[in-house]
Amino acid sequence: MPQMPSPLELAIALIQIPSITPQDRGCQALLSEFLQNLGFTLYPLRFGEVDNLYARLGTQGKNFCFAGHTDVVTAGDPAAWRAPPFAAEVHDGILIGRGANDMKGGVAAMLAAAARFLHHRPDFAQHDSLSFLITGDEEGVATDGTVRVLEWLRARSERLDYCLVGEPTCMNRLGDGLKNGRRGSLNGELILHGRQGHVAYPQLADNPIHRVAPIIDRLVRHRFDAGNAHFPATSLQFTNIQAGDGFHNVIPGTLRLTFNFRFSPESTPVGLEQQLRDRLDREVPPVSYTLHTQLSGLPFLTEGGPLLEAVSRSVQQITGVTPTPSTGGGTSDARFIALDCPQTVEFGLLSATIHQVNEQVAVADLEQLTRVYEQVLQTLFPAP
Ligand SMILES: [Zn+2]
Repeated sequence: MPQMPSPLELAIALIQIPSITPQDRGCQALLSEFLQNLGFTLYPLRFGEVDNLYARLGTQGKNFCFAGHTDVVTAGDPAAWRAPPFAAEVHDGILIGRGANDMKGGVAAMLAAAARFLHHRPDFAQHDSLSFLITGDEEGVATDGTVRVLEWLRARSERLDYCLVGEPTCMNRLGDGLKNGRRGSLNGELILHGRQGHVAYPQLADNPIHRVAPIIDRLVRHRFDAGNAHFPATSLQFTNIQAGDGFHNVIPGTLRLTFNFRFSPESTPVGLEQQLRDRLDREVPPVSYTLHTQLSGLPFLTEGGPLLEAVSRSVQQITGVTPTPSTGGGTSDARFIALDCPQTVEFGLLSATIHQVNEQVAVADLEQLTRVYEQVLQTLFPAP
């Protein structure tokens, strides 16, 4: 690996490894070699089927951590792509490939930024620390990934003071968005119990399909909370509905719904489930049901502080765009990291093509993102 690699070279090397979650296929070996050459101490952490990597340079001062993942989602039909999804071809200044934005491009920019920063600051590790927390299980179930690495860090009393997560956060151009928080996510299943019967004798049955329509309507129109200055109101979305076995003459006995809450800190998982129960218990005539919820992630917010200021200012300086802090969008591993690291911010590439066919990134954006990351380090750790 050359001393001053370009983020494009690194991104191409990573994309050419088809690390569909949770397979690693050598991504983390590539990162390890790179970081070792920069003087980092490596802690490869394999949990279950998943390869994770924690690497740290320095043992004292503030610990700044770049966090991300090297796994990608499936490419889908390769023939639908303009260029093969794992070939990492560049056409007219655009790098095409699975993971270009989500988030091998971001990881490449972090590595290149670290190399450039340390090149100018060979004494950095005498005062402060730089670390990488990279998982191979963000796109999958995410149980043997960042969560387990954080447990490991806690057991070692290893602290993260600042964490910059390089997930794609921008909409239309690099710099227009950063995430300083995320909504919580609560999954659930609601089963309505009726009574099975013959369609010709409905008086002898209780059809849960007929009961569910007004129930869904009332629940989705209910205001679970009003959100707050940083978060939109909690939203409930039903994601699946299933009843019956396909017989035209049978009224089904049960109906199963699945749903997801994206919730603001104004609500809690227990409180949301209770609100659902309160409303279901008020149904006339009474409805028999079973309800389960499962927490997927708590909300977090980094309301201010040095990291958020450094990221905002660096984005502005390098891209000329003032980023709008947001808590919208899906979840990311930042929800776990923020429980241990009070200053957690996400900034990365454009999200327009992530998980799609022809995922692509402008080569110029990779270079600009690298400069933003380097500038964040320079802002937080000015030369003594
Ligand atoms: Zn991602």
